Amino acid sequence: MSTVLILADFVGEKATKSTVELATAGAGIGEVTALVLAPAGKGAALAATITQGAIAKVIVIESDDFIQHGVAASADALAHVTDQLKPAALLIASHAFGKEVAGRVAMKLVCGIITDAVDVAPDCTATQLVFGGSTTVHSKVPQGTAIITVRPNTITADFVAANPVIENATAQISDVAKKATVTSTQPPVKGGRPELTEANIVVSGGRGTNGDFGAVEAFADSLGAAVGASRAATDAGWYPHSHQVGQTGKTVSPQLYVACGISGAIQHRAGMQTSKNIVVINKDPEAPLFELADFGVVGDLFAVLPPATEGVKAHKA
Ligand SMILES: Cc1cc2nc3c(=O)[nH]c(=O)nc-3n(C[C@H](O)[C@H](O)[C@H](O)COP(=O)(O)OP(=O)(O)OC[C@H]3O[C@@H](n4cnc5c(N)ncnc54)[C@H](O)[C@@H]3O)c2cc1C
Repeated sequence: MSTVLILADFVGEKATKSTVELATAGAGIGEVTALVLAPAGKGAALAATITQGAIAKVIVIESDDFIQHGVAASADALAHVTDQLKPAALLIASHAFGKEVAGRVAMKLVCGIITDAVDVAPDCTATQLVFGGSTTVHSKVPQGTAIITVRPNTITADFVAANPVIENATAQISDVAKKATVTSTQPPVKGGRPELTEANIVVSGGRGTNGDFGAVEAFADSLGAAVGASRAATDAGWYPHSHQVGQTGKTVSPQLYVACGISGAIQHRAGMQTSKNIVVINKDPEAPLFELADFGVVGDLFAVLPPATEGVKAHKA
């Protein structure tokens, strides 16, 4: 049976849904081993948060080099384990860190790499959506381990209970990888809202908010939702770029996506079209996003959202 290596993905000290999604994709190819790269003394605690996903084995490598030397040190360790296991595929979450580490490992091991896959078939064929989601591409790595980064929230995660064998390992971090040192880091300022890519409900605002996200945030808070934004809103400086949904932002696939004052450009759709239920609030009945909506409200978001917020609160009380 083939082996598949996944790089376990964490937010803070907890394995993310992406880890389960990678395991789900990997299980279609072969037996899944997850690699945990942890600061010294933290490996067991991080590995213990991998409780879901079809993962047969977890390999833990501890080193403070991962903190001090960032992605270069992680790439050294990941390349070492990949070279030892020679898996059919190496699957990594497709965020900035994941794509950089994947590229470095591909260079080190002279393997092919495919980024931003939205699906991976049992024969390691990756599916990508390009040109804002309008074109589907299927491609395969012809040489060595197939290194594939998978966009979070695009694979339906199988939350089967994980009961992996835990193995500790070591890896030599090269002097080259230690040439750059991280001198300080600033953790992102977190509000009380869930992480955008992990949330079950996302409420997003666009140009229609005219810069006032108050009603969008209040509705999101009534639902316990994350707040997203269109690029028009982030480019205008109305909301942080880290909340942008779409082709050049984040991909979300929540149970419920509520788009407020967003027209539905193809680049926005690319980041939210796999949401399970889509609600669109727009004062223009011709807005293209209504084509994707399961439920649409033609109206001014500033008139629609406050009573909706009160309605949710009353329902909860
Ligand atoms: C290479 C590239 C990458 C891109 N990447 C992204 C991306 O990642 N994400 C993204 O979102 N965009 C992206 N874009 C931009 C995209 O093409 C659109 O310009 C953008 O999505 C438009 O944002 P919007 O819907 O908020 O604004 P608009 O298109 O201006 O739509 C605003 C909508 O709000 C409605 N409205 C106005 N006032 C109200 C009100 N009071 N109540 C209710 N409705 C109201 C209007 O009827 C309109 O439909 C990208 C573009 C390019 C070229």
